Amino acid sequence: LVRAVAAVASSPAAGASFEVHGGAVEIHNVTKRFGTLRVLDDVSLTLAPGSVTALIGPSGSGKSTLLRSINHLERVDAGFIAIDGEPVGYRRVGDKLFELRKSEILKRRVDVGMVFQTFNLFPHLTALENVVEAPIEVRGRPRAEAEAEALELLARVGLSDKTDAFPRQLSGGQQQRVAIARALALKPKVLLFDEPTSALDPELVNEVLDVIEELARSGVTLVIVTHEIGFARRVADTVVFLEGGRIVEVGPPERVLEQPDHERTVRFLSKVL
Ligand code: ADP
Ligand code: MG
Repeated sequence: LVRAVAAVASSPAAGASFEVHGGAVEIHNVTKRFGTLRVLDDVSLTLAPGSVTALIGPSGSGKSTLLRSINHLERVDAGFIAIDGEPVGYRRVGDKLFELRKSEILKRRVDVGMVFQTFNLFPHLTALENVVEAPIEVRGRPRAEAEAEALELLARVGLSDKTDAFPRQLSGGQQQRVAIARALALKPKVLLFDEPTSALDPELVNEVLDVIEELARSGVTLVIVTHEIGFARRVADTVVFLEGGRIVEVGPPERVLEQPDHERTVRFLSKVL
């Protein structure tokens, strides 16, 4: 397979050639800098459709930046990312890439759902309204249809009795489950979770992990940044250990978590386990 040519920020990818391997998410030689700090350093990774990837690593290692790059909330400085064969932030014409306009980037962003540590629900909207807002506003779905689907999604995350509650009337675990239903409502190809349980009281962690585990079996491609190593071991197909913006180790959970090749992985795991 042909290697892709890097897209460099100072001379955007127009003209760069482009080749994908058929993964749901393909990250090709991605580098991202903040000023002089190289936060992602030549990261390459292919995620198969329907796969579940756990992204682990110390604070500041670039995990959130990698997720944000997949969603094009960050613009990478070199390399490129493709979702379902389509380059993020670029349009493909033949084997060449051309940068997308802002409006087109926003349209494409619905392919990738994101769930944050801090839920980020609209505080003035009920659970149901939080879930139907984007399908109606972004996808232009008729309200009745969007509401029927939202009720199904809220049932799926165990919140049938909370559809009319406002976020302040819900526990952290319930708010996070609304956030998951909201992300699913746009029918994303890929769903990204950035430490979805880190802001929760310990007794609420499992109700959210259980919902994610159920999703993992449903065929949507998932990437989960987590410090819940037991959960990663049980649910992920692949564990990626990131440190200093580089992938140190990648492989099946039983190998990366139980027989890591690298001293740095061993050291990290000894701190979080
Ligand atoms: P992680 O999620 O693994 O904790 P991040 O991706 O949030 O790591 O951050 C990686 C590094 O990039 C950190 O050193 C962080 O301070 C820095 N960083 C993240 N976002 C920005 C930003 N917008 N501007 C400057 N530095 C940033
Ligand atoms: Mg982070």
